[in-house]
Amino acid sequence: MTHHTPRFTFDNSYARELDGFYVPWEGDKVPEPRILLLNTELAEELALDPEALDSDEGAAILAGARAPEGAETLAQAYAGHQFGGFSPQLGDGRAILMGELIDSQGRRRDLHLKGSGRTPFSRGGDGKAVLGPVLREFVIGEAMHALGIPTTRALSAVTTGETIWRETAKPGAVLARVAASHLRVGTFQYFAARGERDRVRQLAEYAIARHDPELAGRDDRYLAFLRAVIRRQAALIAQWMHVGFVHGVMNTDNMTISGETIDYGPCAFIDTFDAKAVFSSIDHGGRYAYGNQPVIAQWNLARLAETLVPLLHDDEKEAIRLATEELEEFPEVYSAHWLAGARAKIGLTEGDDSDIGFVNALYAAMAGQTVDHTLFFRALPQAAEGEDAPVIELFDDATAIREWLPHWRSRLAAEGRDPATLRAAMDAVNPLYIPRNHKVEEALRAAEAEGDMGPITRLLEVLGAPYEERDGLEDYARPAPGSFGPYKTFCGT
Ligand code: AMP
Ligand code: MG
Repeated sequence: MTHHTPRFTFDNSYARELDGFYVPWEGDKVPEPRILLLNTELAEELALDPEALDSDEGAAILAGARAPEGAETLAQAYAGHQFGGFSPQLGDGRAILMGELIDSQGRRRDLHLKGSGRTPFSRGGDGKAVLGPVLREFVIGEAMHALGIPTTRALSAVTTGETIWRETAKPGAVLARVAASHLRVGTFQYFAARGERDRVRQLAEYAIARHDPELAGRDDRYLAFLRAVIRRQAALIAQWMHVGFVHGVMNTDNMTISGETIDYGPCAFIDTFDAKAVFSSIDHGGRYAYGNQPVIAQWNLARLAETLVPLLHDDEKEAIRLATEELEEFPEVYSAHWLAGARAKIGLTEGDDSDIGFVNALYAAMAGQTVDHTLFFRALPQAAEGEDAPVIELFDDATAIREWLPHWRSRLAAEGRDPATLRAAMDAVNPLYIPRNHKVEEALRAAEAEGDMGPITRLLEVLGAPYEERDGLEDYARPAPGSFGPYKTFCGT
């Protein structure tokens, strides 16, 4: 423990430029803030001193109980479609933006606290977060980052010393989260729904300056901005699909303008490949099922487009036509990203759009089987050399995959791939270690029930290098044992 004061060099553009888009607000005082996890690598990236943060004062700051010098803490306003129904007023009901930091690469990053107490946006909620979901967001977000997927990141998890009542008594906790910004589709919706056209314009200008500065000043900047968001989301969702990530609650308030994954609540990774996979206990209709995510992303982007219509053209009809044209690009842009990713997963470097049938045949072979999505792609390189058994063994009925493999081998032969470079290339894009649901639960239970941070620390280490096979980690690569049963997740409140 050191005693120098943690210093933050804030530059708070949101507070400064978007008066009326938030409520200045402070976090609650809490009895006993204590740091459980501190992301020292991220702290350094943010030009923060991890040693200074790892102190009583640092804990109080990261719990939201004390504002450091330069912070302008505030609760952001936003709206959102939740499961398809519009809520005009959501907003930071249990979170505050502390301020913005310019990181070591010159990037502007939000520092945000989740679980810091009630705000004017809390509605019926208590404004608090509890330890399990905070740790879950920490682990999954960091795993996504290590997988190379754009995401918010976790700087710290602290306990507050409070007891929070959920279905039982739980330890209160606060997550410090770092994001390219917290602008959401729902931020635009909040002002659009109130008919505040000038504020939508102001927000769009701010978003452009922050995320698409090359568009600033262009006559067609609002349309180009919509296109940029559509492209970022198409690329993001394709990446989710290729690692088997199910977000679980793709409400428009949980979709960023930056293209980062945000708000890890009932999310989970698939084990067997199943387009219908749903883990969230409240997603009865399967709206946010694994295979539905691209469609939902496009639906959410249509909600963003609606908010921008008044900015796109003086003639509303023409504005709608322009927006629709952009939205209609989504499936194609998404498919191109998805196909490029799929090709990389199977070690092909050449090809064209006609590969879609070839790749779809592979996924059709996996569908309805108990084959593990992650292990399949790690076993596949062996089949390049004719050693099919490790792949075949993963299937209950191997008829379709037996048919597909020779086609694949002839494609590889046509590309003249040698087996050693093929394996390295495939392993570099197909993770071996993903946050297996049973391993995540095991680590959360140890932390929650016994205060044992060993398993979660170890899990974070494993997930920090997901593509690199290491001795002794076999247990982290295996699917859940049958005894684990079907997996259900709950919203992180
Ligand atoms: P989420 O499901 O975390 O994306 O949150 C959806 C909305 O509910 C946001 O406006 C949150 O701020 C709000 N919310 C979630 N949990 C709480 C809570 N415990 N207290 C107050 N507001 C909450
Ligand atoms: Mg949310």
